[in-house]
Amino acid sequence: MAINLKAYQEVLSQLSPYQAKLVAVSKTKPVSDVEAFYAAGQRIFGENYVQELTEKQAVLPADIEWHFIGHLQSNKVKYIAPFVHTIHAVDSLKLLQEINKQAAKYQRVIHCLLQVHIAAEETKFGMDEQELQQLLQTYAANPAAFSHVRIAGMMGMATNTTNETQIHKEFHQLHQLFGSVKTTYFNHETYFKELSIGMSADYPIALQEGSTMVRIGSLLFGERNYSQK
Ligand SMILES: *Cc1c(COP(=O)(O)O)cnc(C)c1O
Repeated sequence: MAINLKAYQEVLSQLSPYQAKLVAVSKTKPVSDVEAFYAAGQRIFGENYVQELTEKQAVLPADIEWHFIGHLQSNKVKYIAPFVHTIHAVDSLKLLQEINKQAAKYQRVIHCLLQVHIAAEETKFGMDEQELQQLLQTYAANPAAFSHVRIAGMMGMATNTTNETQIHKEFHQLHQLFGSVKTTYFNHETYFKELSIGMSADYPIALQEGSTMVRIGSLLFGERNYSQK
């Protein structure tokens, strides 16, 4: 299936009143598809396989802002630390510490979003509220130990369902939590501002519930074929 530049323009016009950002999710898709969206003006792209990301980054324009959006194993942070802009799915203190350590080697600051589990499904990654609080307390006790990461906000994935009420509810809860975390831990920090919610199927709901960043793949790039992945 071919890329859909018309859908791209439609998504952009829907994001515009909210001033939300688009992460174009290019996982499993060829470099030529990324180039086509790049030519149309897109600069933020999201991937969730480390090897695929490093291969694409090596051959694509240097001004692309790469976001890693999937589950990230600590032992793979080193491969993307030289260039990755934002890591969306930070789901443990250990991972945050490793990102900090690897970013320090390159004298970089990597933006991190804390992933919270909001879906009904067991399979989706993310912290529960207690794990989130523990991570934040450790961070707040000694922010200087995290000088190479910037906690820029939070991220979540809603249940894969056609029940819009449920999706609204899950995003709404995350937005509430985002607000209380901001007040408690980042009150004077303008950089804690991103709420990464919304994918192809649910991004209009996410925008209504406070999304500042949507992660959209199949709507732009066509359905993915997972037979090789
Ligand atoms: C694949 C993926 C997306 C994009 O999903 P679509 O339904 O294709 O828009 C968004 N977020 C994450 C974490 C993903 O893995």
